[in-house]
Amino acid sequence: MPGILVYALHYEGAINKNSLGAVSEAARLAGELGTEAHAIVMGGDDLTDDLCASLGRYGAAKVLRAKGPEGLAQPVVDAMAKAVADGGYDYALFGGGLLGFEIGAGLAARLGAGVTMEVTAVNVDGGRLVAERPIHGDSSISSSRYKGFGIIIGRLNAFETQEAGSGAATVEDLDVELSEWSTRATMVKRGEQRGVDVDIEGADLLVAGGRGLGKAEGFEMLEQLAGTLGGAVAATRAVVDAGWFPYAAQIGQTGKTVAPKLYLAAGISGAIQHKVGMQSSENIVAINKDANAPIFEYSDLGIVGDLNKIVPKLNDAIKVKKGG
Ligand SMILES: Cc1cc2nc3c(=O)[nH]c(=O)nc-3n(C[C@H](O)[C@H](O)[C@H](O)COP(=O)(O)OP(=O)(O)OC[C@H]3O[C@@H](n4cnc5c(N)ncnc54)[C@H](O)[C@@H]3O)c2cc1C
Repeated sequence: MPGILVYALHYEGAINKNSLGAVSEAARLAGELGTEAHAIVMGGDDLTDDLCASLGRYGAAKVLRAKGPEGLAQPVVDAMAKAVADGGYDYALFGGGLLGFEIGAGLAARLGAGVTMEVTAVNVDGGRLVAERPIHGDSSISSSRYKGFGIIIGRLNAFETQEAGSGAATVEDLDVELSEWSTRATMVKRGEQRGVDVDIEGADLLVAGGRGLGKAEGFEMLEQLAGTLGGAVAATRAVVDAGWFPYAAQIGQTGKTVAPKLYLAAGISGAIQHKVGMQSSENIVAINKDANAPIFEYSDLGIVGDLNKIVPKLNDAIKVKKGG
């Protein structure tokens, strides 16, 4: 009997890594529950048998393939609601990210189901799933149990991708009649998110930006400086939460831990939750207009001043030095 249904997003012939993590997690949990993990995909002809069946490597026993626009929430809600009605699933699991949040919330409204977002761990207790979610600024954990159908949406990349399955999944086409309102939106353009493909943890040199940049565009000058130095750009949680830079670049307690040769922090106060992710850097240079900013307490070199003036000058000076 099928137990957990996972939405798997695909793009340009590949399943999204975050979705593979969710499939792996569902397979692990289904194993403990004595049920199965199934995946559901939506798209066009690029959803080949091979691509769908490949989810078996991550533990999906079956893949439901629905025809419809990829990357839009409401058509997927239609497909998942139908699959749940047909298949008797107990849970839906998502890997997180904005699309997962939107589909999961839509499905919860459609089915009158309980939903937990930003989940960082899922356990089995008494034959039912329990979702753990950090609350109060990540200082405590709340546990959610579900009376009926449960929807669990992970924090982005919270679930580890694991090739646990033995081989190919069965692929089944799912006929869905899309609701009239589900087809009103169309995908106009799909953009690349800056910085996602950059190996922040492996970089020797990081130029990190915080709220002191003032706006998302402030990151452009950091990208120029990182380009001149041959490094990568990182960020604080405050700015990724504000949508100024991708989550993939977040350093700190709830982000990545790095130890580059040089960590240049611009407009970062140096909160403890940020410090724990970068304090092992060989050299820390901080630019902050507040001479009392905590980051200066653990910097090797501190520059007190306006980053808008200092960063472009630094970039020019390094260019001259490199050219000379
Ligand atoms: C449980 C928990 C987990 C967290 N995890 C993380 C995490 O993983 N990573 C993380 O980064 N944070 C994390 N935080 C948030 C953390 O506590 C801070 O709120 C955050 O790091 C602050 O980001 P910031 O330095 O960009 O912003 P702010 O604290 O607002 O600092 C901005 C700084 O910019 C300076 N500034 C302003 N204008 C200029 C200018 N023109 N020139 C130069 N300097 C200027 C200001 O003086 C200030 O020091 C977490 C918090 C909690 C509670």
